[in-house]
This record gives sequence, C-alpha cells and structure tokens, in this order.
Amino acid sequence: MNPDIEKILYDQAQVEARIDALAETLTQRYQDQFPVVVPVMTGAMIFASLLLQRLDFKLNIDYVDVSSYEDNAESSGRVRLLRDLSHDVTDRPVLIVEDIIDTGHTLKFLDQLFASRGAKSIATCALLDKPSRREVDVDAAYIGFEVPNEFIVGYGLDYNGLYRNLPYIGVLKRSIYE
Ligand code: 5GP
Ligand code: MG
Ligand code: MG
Repeated sequence: MNPDIEKILYDQAQVEARIDALAETLTQRYQDQFPVVVPVMTGAMIFASLLLQRLDFKLNIDYVDVSSYEDNAESSGRVRLLRDLSHDVTDRPVLIVEDIIDTGHTLKFLDQLFASRGAKSIATCALLDKPSRREVDVDAAYIGFEVPNEFIVGYGLDYNGLYRNLPYIGVLKRSIYE
C-alpha cells in the first residue's frame, strides 16, 4: 500500500464487481436510447474507461473538463468549464460520469448546462458519493459506493495531481494535506 494512504476502503476486486453491476443496470436503462456519455475529466477517466467497456448499447463518448478545486482539499463552490462537449446534445440523452459527488456544485452546473441545450434526459453515474457534504440538491441516479467525510484518492481521484493511478479507493492521510 502507498505510505500516504491511511486505509483502503474498497480494493480492486470490490470496485470492479461494483462497476459490473452498474454497467448491467445502465445497459438495461439505455437500450435503444443512444446517449452521449460524458465523463468529467480528469477524475472520472479511470472509472469511465472501465465502465464504458462494459456498456452494451449504442452510445457516443464525449467529455468535459471542469474546475472547482483550486489545488486544495476544499471545494470553492465555483465551477468553471475548461473543455466543452464536441457533440450537440439537443434531444439526446446525456449520461454524466463522475468520480465523486461531494458538495454537488459540479453536477448542478453540468445539469443546468445540458438542460439549457435541450438534452432529452440527464442522469449521472458516479463512482463515489459523499452525501454528508452536500450543499445543493442533485439527483445522482447511479452510485458505486457511499464514502465517509474523508479525503479519498485512487481510481482516478487525486490530491494535487497525485494518486490517480492507485488501484484501490483509499483515504489520504491528513498529514499529507494539512
Ligand atoms: P463537488 O463538490 O462539486 O460535488 O465535487 C467536485 C469535485 O471535487 C469532484 O468531482 C472531485 O473531483 C473533487 N472531490 C470531491 N471530494 C473529493 C475527495 O474526497 N477526493 C478527491 N480526490 N476529490 C474530491
Ligand atoms: Mg470530478
Ligand atoms: Mg481533483
């Protein structure tokens, strides 16, 4: 285990089993829907690639990049769009793929953006949910795991650009960011 990790919450086998189950649910929901699947970079990259290969329906892959954290462990509540879609989502179902839903600001921002463009439906699949931190009400339809109010890394989630490649979901030691 990486020495900066306090504890492992979910190991690789647990995560991949959960992704199998999510993919099965999504495959039922999106048969004949032809959605645009939109991972939010960079945190969702690893989760999205594992999920996408398990989705058995016709889809397009796009992505957005947003920024809300300014290189620290506290959310600012402000969301900026750094990279927009290349697909037109008018009358298309949109499936947002996120690493974690924390305050909910990112999701709310993306929801309003795609709604304003006339998306046919908007749903989110997030690897992790930290409901204790929610500041705005958002509807995350598909969740991998609920996590406690700790700083999580691994499976795409970073601290200052590090730890994204860890093949488990872990809690970062407080001494690293305090
Ligand atoms: P929001 O607060 O807008 O719901 O979450 C915004 C983003 O903050 C998430 O997509 C994720 O990139 C980052 N974030 C929130 N909580 C954590 C966490 O525990 N660990 C890491 N690495 N990133 C987090
Ligand atoms: Mg994110
Ligand atoms: Mg981050």
